[in-house]
This record gives sequence, structure tokens and C-alpha cells, in this order.
Amino acid sequence: MKLHEYQSKQIFAKYGIPIPKGRVAATASEAKAIAEELGGRVVIKSQVLVGGRGKAGGVKLAKDADEAEQLATQILAMEIKGLPVRKVLVDEAAAIETEIYFSITNDRAARKPVMIASAAGGVEIEEVAAKTPEKIVKVHVDPLLGLRDYQARDIAASIDLPRDYWKDFNKIAAGLWKVYTETDATLAEINPLVITKDKRLIALDGKMMIDDNALFRHADLAEMRDVDEEAAAETEARKYGLSYIKLDGNIGCMVNGAGLAMTSMDIVKLFGGEPANFLDIGGGAGSDKVAAAMKIILSDPNVKAVLFNIFGGITRCDEVARGILVAMDEVKPKVPMVVRLVGTNAEEGRKLLADAKMITAETLADAAKKAVAAAKGKAK
Ligand code: GDP
Ligand code: MN
Repeated sequence: MKLHEYQSKQIFAKYGIPIPKGRVAATASEAKAIAEELGGRVVIKSQVLVGGRGKAGGVKLAKDADEAEQLATQILAMEIKGLPVRKVLVDEAAAIETEIYFSITNDRAARKPVMIASAAGGVEIEEVAAKTPEKIVKVHVDPLLGLRDYQARDIAASIDLPRDYWKDFNKIAAGLWKVYTETDATLAEINPLVITKDKRLIALDGKMMIDDNALFRHADLAEMRDVDEEAAAETEARKYGLSYIKLDGNIGCMVNGAGLAMTSMDIVKLFGGEPANFLDIGGGAGSDKVAAAMKIILSDPNVKAVLFNIFGGITRCDEVARGILVAMDEVKPKVPMVVRLVGTNAEEGRKLLADAKMITAETLADAAKKAVAAAKGKAK
């Protein structure tokens, strides 16, 4: 789960990381009122769950409250990378001297959290990594020992942070480490962490991602989820306990079991197709869940064919077939559908689907081939 900048910064502040004064607003007049409170010179920042807002025109400086109102009006009418702006953060403007990049994330290959820092902050870190990788410093943190003071000092030295700021940087590093571990984050990022002209070190931007699997023990964080800013299909999938990830291809895949789902996607690719999604309906899915899954798959306009690969164990093929029928009745799909049912109650399942005008397949390879052909408009 991604958190907004204003949410991330509120969490940072709780852990002693300095942030600018400011508040979030949903209307231009609220933005104006906040700007007045803050003394006029503010920055208006779109709150959308994507990076690069600055470049897209979603971060603007205002010299007084009236300009803040104007800019908020503009920004609240924007769409950034396809996401509508519904809120703006109005922060006291900072006079920036230096922009630093600083984050903690999980390094899967090293099986450890890693602190990443760079003196080339402000811009997206992927850009720095691509053009000037030597400007990025990485320090792995042992999850059992936690962040050690010397590691924070190492980072400060490696990014040539002036000595005067080392003590404050140490506190910020320790705070960010606590944020990362205590919230079960997969990313805690400050970009930029700035040195201001009046010699303060503050987190001007904040970004956090929380491990969805840990949300059960963070009711306060789970509440912060902004469903308006998520892909509708993913919200819907979560409601039904489905694991769904949208991809860029055109063959919708409905499979039971994550391993089988990945295998099915591989086989689709093997035969020259591109999966439109990953979807695991889970073990023992009933017809309502199947119907929900099918609606989610078909809500993607790229989908040109759907492949069902159901290996019935705990999941009963007749239940799946019933779910397919319910969904077909409701959504009236226009795309061809290829179905492979094997295992528990497969025979009953096939009988139920006999009149449903679906393309049937015996093996996974056969099913994938037929789905690829169907997506290319070559189905009978
Ligand atoms: P992002 O583009 O989504 O990462 O949004 P940021 O919050 O990082 O803002 C982008 C850039 O806008 C920063 O790197 C700064 O250069 C600039 N910026 C943001 N806030 C301020 C501010 O208070 N004062 C000044 N002078 N620049 C700011
Ligand atoms: Mn940023």
C-alpha cells in the first residue's frame, strides 16, 4: 500500500524527522486559508500516488495566499500520470541550498534492508542510478542489529555532508530506520532531504509503501488507504480476497493457485501471447468469488481473450463453472473464452459450461495456444 506524501511526512514527524509546517487541503479556498496561516510563501503540492509530480507541474511555489489559491485551483484540476488530483499539501516554502536523496528499502537479493543515499537528490533516483551510479551510496542494515551510528556516519561522509549536519543527519537516519521497521514498510523515502539556507536539515518530500501482508497489525495505517487513488480493479479484488495484478497484455488469466497462475502466464508467453493480468482466485473459491474475478478481468479494455485454467483440488470445478455462468450473465462478455477444467468435479463443470459457447481445452498447452489464437482473432 502506498501512502501519500502528507501521510508519510506525518509519520516521519512522529519519529522525530523534521518536516515543513503545513496541512492538506481539498479546495482552493482551504489552500488559501492555510497559506495565510503559514505567512503566505508556500508550496502547493499535488497529492497523487506517483513520483515525478514536480516535473509534471504538480508542485508549485506561491509568493502569497492569493497566488496559493490560484495555483491550488490549477493543480486540483490536474491529472498526473492518469491520476486525478483530489488534494494538495500546502507547506511552508523552504529556501533550498542542497537536495539530498535518502531512503530505506528492502534488498531482496541481499535479504536485508538497505539505506540508499545520494548527494544528487531531488530528481528521481532511477535517473541518478542510470546516469551517475557512482553518486549513489548503499549501506545494508542487519535486521537483528538494527542501524548502527557508524553506518549513518558512513553515509553522511560518503555523500560529503558537511560536518555541522552530521548530528541531525544521525537523528534522521535513526528515525527513518524506526519508521521503516515499526510500520512494516517496504519503502521509506525522503527525496529531497534538504539543507535550507537557514541551515536546517528537513524532509521536503516523503514517500512510503507499507507491506500489505502486515496491515492486519497496523489498523491505523490500513485506515490511511486512499481507495480513490487506486486502480478500481485492485480495490475490488482486495474486497473479494483475490490476488490481482494488472499487466499490459491482452489475454486475461483466471487461475487457482499462485504457482499455477504464474505457470499459465509463462505458457501463454511461450506461445506468443501476453497476459493481461496475474490473478489467483485462491483455493476453494466459490462461485461469487469467481464471478467477481471475471468481472475484474473483463473490466480491462485491453483484454481480447480470457483463459481459465482451473486445477480442481479443494476448488471444485462445478463451483467455478457456476461462477463463470453468473458472471457471463451479468457482464455479457464479447471476447472469446478458453476454459480448461481438470480435477474435482471437472465433468460436472464441463457439463454446466456446455451451452456457454466457450472454447474448451484438455491440456494447459492446448488452452494457451487457443487463447493466443483467440486474442489474435483467429478463434472459431
Ligand atoms: P516530486 O517531484 O513528486 O518528487 O515532488 P517533490 O516534493 O520532491 O518536489 C519536487 C521539487 O520541487 C523538489 O525537488 C524541489 O526542487 C522543489 N520544491 C519542493 N518543495 C519546495 C520548497 O518548499 N521550496 C523550494 N524552493 N523548492 C521546492
Ligand atoms: Mn520528490
